[in-house]
Amino acid sequence: MKITQSEALHKEAQQHIVGGVNSPSRAYKGVGGGTPVYMERGEGAYFWDVDGNKYIDFLGAYGPIITGHAHPHITEAIKKAAENGVLYGTPTKLENIFAQKLKATIPSMEKVRFVNSGTEAVMTTVRVARAYTNREKVIKFAGCYHGHFDTVLVQAGSGPATLGNPDSAGVTKATAQEVITVPFNDIEAFQAALDTWGDEVAAVLVEPIVGNFGIVEPVEGFLQQVNNLTHDAGALVIYDEVITAFRFTYGSAQKIVGVEPDMTALGKIIGGGLPIGAYGGKQEIMETVAPLGPAYQAGTMAGNPASMSAGIACLEVLEEAGLYDRLDQLGAMLEKGMLDAAEKHGIDITVNRLKGALTLYFGSETITNYAQAEASDGEKFGQFFKLMLQQGINLAPSKYEAWFLTIAHTEDDIKETIACIDKAFAEMAS
Ligand code: PLP
Repeated sequence: MKITQSEALHKEAQQHIVGGVNSPSRAYKGVGGGTPVYMERGEGAYFWDVDGNKYIDFLGAYGPIITGHAHPHITEAIKKAAENGVLYGTPTKLENIFAQKLKATIPSMEKVRFVNSGTEAVMTTVRVARAYTNREKVIKFAGCYHGHFDTVLVQAGSGPATLGNPDSAGVTKATAQEVITVPFNDIEAFQAALDTWGDEVAAVLVEPIVGNFGIVEPVEGFLQQVNNLTHDAGALVIYDEVITAFRFTYGSAQKIVGVEPDMTALGKIIGGGLPIGAYGGKQEIMETVAPLGPAYQAGTMAGNPASMSAGIACLEVLEEAGLYDRLDQLGAMLEKGMLDAAEKHGIDITVNRLKGALTLYFGSETITNYAQAEASDGEKFGQFFKLMLQQGINLAPSKYEAWFLTIAHTEDDIKETIACIDKAFAEMAS
């Protein structure tokens, strides 16, 4: 496969855009380097790059794309919004329609606010929780990504429940000291953190089904215990559902896990591919937000008609009965294909899957927390990623990311992908 146009564009990009990319995960650092492929067109489950090569896409733009690229219903809604003027700076009816649609399927969001990204959504829930509880510390789980605001760019120190260290230059030590990081699925470590800092904790940030060190489900009872212990400590539970909402079912993961948080942050899928975020929660907590309360949050682009239109259209597509079962069937087919090919070629892999989202880890250990995901073989993943890309399969360039199926993928696409996996494993085994 020739990628000469991509190579030329990437050379040019590096002269003008820092690192040649507008988000670091798009560079191929996590797979041992190389030239990122420059895509030109997406339709359904496919991409075409600037050199004319065709790909089956499993990146799904890191989660937002579940309807396939350029879904006609969403495209039409965006066109109509563009014709009516994309930004008003006034309230619109679309915001009411969309807020009601979200509330109808996520009842814990009694009041909603739209913002422009998942980062903004999570960041604001933390601010609101601090304002509501009059406390400052936040507990998060190791390996979970919640966007790029300072509080969440903090990693665990040594030990099972520790105050954090900055994970990025520019994050102050004082900020890191506000964050306690504990391993996911470890209720003893969580309890220990609350025993030490409980009366200072404003909120616990939770991905109810982890999407950021692969797809990792909570062990039985874990999230209920997290809720109970957090509330006993007088703190709030925030679910970061930026990846999970509308990914596994029509609505949120809280519906699947059967536990309700105090606040929820949304993003990705709910924008139908346009920039969006939203947060919400119990009315009493949300009344802390300006103009009703003292916690400030605003946005020139917040609730803009283009993102509202695309988001409403996306949910209209997803309302169709049976769609998530189909994603489950295709996901199961892909998972089986991976496991069969691995067995045939004697390659150790572990697959974590929920419905149409899955992660292939190189290694045989069960993955229930970040340390285990970290121990999976990144070098092998890098080799696999490149062998797949050369065969026209577009994956996320990181061993920690998920493969996201869309409603546009067909059984034939999955069969073709399994054949490519088989070839990649054969090469890796040789
Ligand atoms: N929360 C989770 C769980 C995410 O996966 C992400 C992005 O990947 C974010 C928050 C940040 O969202 P955004 O990139 O839209 O700012």
